Amino acid sequence: MGSPNGFIQIKRTKPHARPVDVRVRDWHEVYLSTPETDVRDQGARCMDCGIPFCHQGCPLGNQIPEWNDLVYRQRWQAASDRLHATNNFPDFTGRLCPAPCEGSCVLGINDDPVTIKNIELSIVERAFEEGWIRATPPAARTGKRVAVIGSGPAGLAAADQLNKAGHLVTVFEKSDRIGGLLRYGIPEFKIEKRLVNRRLALLEAEGVVFRAGVNVGVDLPTAALRREFDAIVLAGGAGAARDLQVPGRELAGIHFAVEYLTQQNRRCEGDEIPERQLITAAGKRVIIIGGGDTGADCLGTAHRQGALSVHQFELLPRPPESRLPDNPWPQWPRIFRSSSAHEEGGERLFSISTERFVDNGAGQVRALETVGVDVSRSGVTRLPGTERTIDGDLVLLAMGFVGPERGGLIAELGVRLTDRGNVWRDDRWMTSEEGIFAAGDMQRGQSLIVWAIADGRHAAAAVDAYLMGESSLSAIA
Ligand SMILES: Cc1cc2nc3c(=O)[nH]c(=O)nc-3n(C[C@H](O)[C@H](O)[C@H](O)COP(=O)(O)OP(=O)(O)OC[C@H]3O[C@@H](n4cnc5c(N)ncnc54)[C@H](O)[C@@H]3O)c2cc1C
Ligand code: SF4
Repeated sequence: MGSPNGFIQIKRTKPHARPVDVRVRDWHEVYLSTPETDVRDQGARCMDCGIPFCHQGCPLGNQIPEWNDLVYRQRWQAASDRLHATNNFPDFTGRLCPAPCEGSCVLGINDDPVTIKNIELSIVERAFEEGWIRATPPAARTGKRVAVIGSGPAGLAAADQLNKAGHLVTVFEKSDRIGGLLRYGIPEFKIEKRLVNRRLALLEAEGVVFRAGVNVGVDLPTAALRREFDAIVLAGGAGAARDLQVPGRELAGIHFAVEYLTQQNRRCEGDEIPERQLITAAGKRVIIIGGGDTGADCLGTAHRQGALSVHQFELLPRPPESRLPDNPWPQWPRIFRSSSAHEEGGERLFSISTERFVDNGAGQVRALETVGVDVSRSGVTRLPGTERTIDGDLVLLAMGFVGPERGGLIAELGVRLTDRGNVWRDDRWMTSEEGIFAAGDMQRGQSLIVWAIADGRHAAAAVDAYLMGESSLSAIA
């Protein structure tokens, strides 16, 4: 531990964001990099606790106190090595992770937790700047071939690990570009896609083969894949979006959030979207149904597109400002949170349910009929007298996902599903089909990037052991 008094003398400081009126006029990332001295000070706040609860908060088991100390001592390259020992893509998690580690930081019991996520980001960006992160292809190949289906963080982490172990890895992706939700879904203002490309270039240089535009189970029969590869990892995500089947759902102007966000991702990449397919918030009154992170991504996107107004609906009540007694440390704090997109405008409505979409007479949505609700363990109760009609001519459904898309891949492979509709796997990460493994949202259900990376690492270690009889790949620390 570098500074014995750091946690007393130094206060937590958040990363600096670009001013709202500047950032809503472009698509660049919201947050600026943090000066080295500030990162060092923040690292000095780490108490190097006897039992570092942040370890158990991080699904990757990142060795947080170790790299905090190395940063404090200005041993940045060693900090990068320590960070990469457990995390393939800290450049993704350092930007996008909700940082459950910070929720279990011991300092958080009676003070603000250490800015773990921002220190992580500063370490990896410094490592890229210094040229410490270079392609390092494996010294020897095993001759075993592995197919990874899906190029999101789970598939990429599995591919990276398996390639490191010397296997020949091909990643298949049905979209035209690699990256899963990192590419199509998560907006540019949260992660610029040049940074996804930066990692992909390294993986390619290390020998991972990417085949975009191949929908396995549709364009490419799984039988062919089984013949060609010694093992298969399913990392196809949980792409089936939850719908809202109320009267008027068929009206024009109502879209799933990911469809909307993907279109903007494509426009940022320079793709032309034909006029009649364009979904834009420009000059529209936007209603986002769903109060979570995907909804917040729609909010930030709508403001950048020039929306007239934006409302974000949430079925659940507004969370408390601080932990309730039934949500003690080191649990993830279930408190009211605002993302950078919420700082940019819009109105959040809680305990509200949509009962009908109203037609403008020409088949286009013009308003939503809503009602206040009480949500309890026994269900959702309407509160009579709280009915409202709220104008809206672009409605974005951001209510989460119900699991992997059925048909195609899953139907053809005939893998067993869980009661929740996710791909079932055993404790060796193998599905009900011999030699076919699963990782990420496809087997976990809708989750987080950090969990996808952790799953990819676990599945890779399991595949390696299956192919070689044993594995030295570490899943987590
Ligand atoms: C809008 C949005 C914003 C989010 N923001 C965050 C965030 O800020 N932080 C965070 O931690 N998490 C966030 N999440 C969640 C996070 O993105 C996911 O948990 C994570 O991407 C899951 O990784 P994955 O690799 O399992 O699947 P995905 O990232 O979904 O990737 C799966 C890939 O598999 C491909 N695929 C599927 N079937 C086939 C097939 N048959 N053949 C070929 N390819 C196939 C899909 O096209 C897709 O590209 C967000 C989710 C959404 C929707
Ligand atoms: S990956 Fe997420 S949970 Fe783990 S240390 Fe980084 S910010 Fe924390």
